[in-house]
Amino acid sequence: MNRSKAGLKKQLDECLEILSFNLDNVNNNKSLNKVLAGQLRILLCDTKFNVENSLINKVIPNPSLDCVNNNFISYKNKRLIEYIPPESLFKKNESQLPLETWLSQKVIKSNISYGTLDCKCPHCDIVVGTMKDAKCLVTMICQNCGASFNVNMGDIVNAYEGKIENVKRTTITIRDIIKNYANKNGGTHVDSVLDNKGFLIAELGDKYIQAISKYIVEYFSKIKIS
Ligand SMILES: [Zn+2]
Repeated sequence: MNRSKAGLKKQLDECLEILSFNLDNVNNNKSLNKVLAGQLRILLCDTKFNVENSLINKVIPNPSLDCVNNNFISYKNKRLIEYIPPESLFKKNESQLPLETWLSQKVIKSNISYGTLDCKCPHCDIVVGTMKDAKCLVTMICQNCGASFNVNMGDIVNAYEGKIENVKRTTITIRDIIKNYANKNGGTHVDSVLDNKGFLIAELGDKYIQAISKYIVEYFSKIKIS
């Protein structure tokens, strides 16, 4: 049995209500970003048995959305991570792209590889290079005192300063941000590339999730769905 047009419209209205409500409250409660990401996934990049299953495609035939502005800036001015500032992510009144292309736009580029990360142990002040990354957190283990400590983006950028290596560039798209953020607490499989992306998204993702949500609410407020 298929959902009626009215039924799909109701699903869309509820999805947009959840986005609006949580956008209004996310500044006081960071965990609401997960709700936003989950709704964005349903709306924009859901798949079922590997087949496209997004709500937007069910209510608008061939949707097109505003492309991102391509002004990448360096994270902390160090050129290791470049990103489009989330607060100016979308161009206004510029060209539009079909959904799949829109989702594949790059928003973060990183030259960081974790294979040779050196950070200082906060306990005994020596430089350690062993790491394990699990579920988006990078944990370093000190070879001297055995303490483990978490590393944040600032530490990684400092540790890499002046030694960009010949690594495969990691790029992160709008789709990566939505899917990775929405799946973060699910049973996603782990490999080093995903972890690298996951870490960047965990650090920078909140603002993107909010910017995309805001854009989507505005987008639908201007569209008449028959
Ligand atoms: Zn130590």
